[in-house]
Amino acid sequence: MVYTPPTRKATISGRDVLQELDRRLVGDLSFDGGKILGSMCSSPHPVASLAFSRALECNIGDEGLVPGLAELERESCTLLGSWWGNSEVAGRIVTGGTEANILALWTAKIRADSEKVEVLLPSTAHYSFDKAASLMGLSLVRIPADASGRVRLDLLEAAVGTHTLAVIGIAGTTDWGAVDDVEALAAIALRHGLYFHLDASFGGFVLPFLSQAGYPGGASWPEGLSSLTADPHKMGRGPIPSGMILWKDSILARTTATDVHYLSGGRLKQNTVVGTRSGAAVAAVWAVMNHLGTEGYTDIVREAMELTSFLILALAEIPGVDCVLPRPAMNVVGVRAKHMPTPLLVTKLREKGWALSSWEHSFRIVLMPHVSRASLQLFLTDLQEATG
Ligand code: PLP
Repeated sequence: MVYTPPTRKATISGRDVLQELDRRLVGDLSFDGGKILGSMCSSPHPVASLAFSRALECNIGDEGLVPGLAELERESCTLLGSWWGNSEVAGRIVTGGTEANILALWTAKIRADSEKVEVLLPSTAHYSFDKAASLMGLSLVRIPADASGRVRLDLLEAAVGTHTLAVIGIAGTTDWGAVDDVEALAAIALRHGLYFHLDASFGGFVLPFLSQAGYPGGASWPEGLSSLTADPHKMGRGPIPSGMILWKDSILARTTATDVHYLSGGRLKQNTVVGTRSGAAVAAVWAVMNHLGTEGYTDIVREAMELTSFLILALAEIPGVDCVLPRPAMNVVGVRAKHMPTPLLVTKLREKGWALSSWEHSFRIVLMPHVSRASLQLFLTDLQEATG
């Protein structure tokens, strides 16, 4: 439908405009509607929402004005770093995984010689790296993954050459939630003197709590890891937008710093892509991380993994589909249709209201905090019918 801007000049009352807003959004899907099964985002924790609303007017980009918030940003980054086994980190709360991945490659590029332009990354890597490469004139060398979705270490090391700038690993691939061998990638990076960035956009708030929750896997910050992406707005129960980048130390964190001299909060070194940044997101991330703590996140991860096991068993009873990985590393389940193209199955399910994320090879279900066993049961009935 073509939009014609209103010609009237009179203001519309706040009540009317908000009513109109509700009317306009009525058909949009919400997490509590139970039909969003493919998203890696979820509804923010109520504590995050309350904290967000307390800092709506704050610009953390002018941090001299909001020293209290700036301290909360530093504390949040140190806290996440400690959960990953490195309290020396320095970081930023950014808009999400894309911005954090761009910042990581920007750091790598500044630190290296100009002829180093190649980034070795798993073929499963998120498209944010394509954006980063396009912005910075880098070239991506995609390394195939094995059947479990983890990057092939032998092929990756064989691809290291004189133009290699950085190595990327993924802790929670976008399609199946696979986790690369972080220790081995760090060792390769050390052997060849390369920048190593771990995209734990999804797994950043899962891996540190897996073993406590009774599941294999875990998080560590090996020597050789330069930076890490982790998104509160995925499994951290933070608001949208909230992402985090952690650099291994404050020296590396300063690499991208730009001198800003005119702000009313005073001169500062800004090491983010954007200038004005949401202070509300910082307040919310700090509040939810401190509220939940390791115990709260462990409970979230345990519930998500229990639901994952339930789903895997239930899918095994449906003859028309296959789970890509019988034992996923995290709460992401890749599913393939056996007797029809997977995208066709996804379209049939969308007609029944189910929102899934899909590729040619598979679709994914992410067992986020808003996903319940009851809604999965309804979904499984529809899936059985659509494949039958
Ligand atoms: N990295 C991975 C592994 C992702 O799965 C995603 C998004 O799903 C991103 C990065 C990008 O995150 P965002 O959408 O928050 O920019």
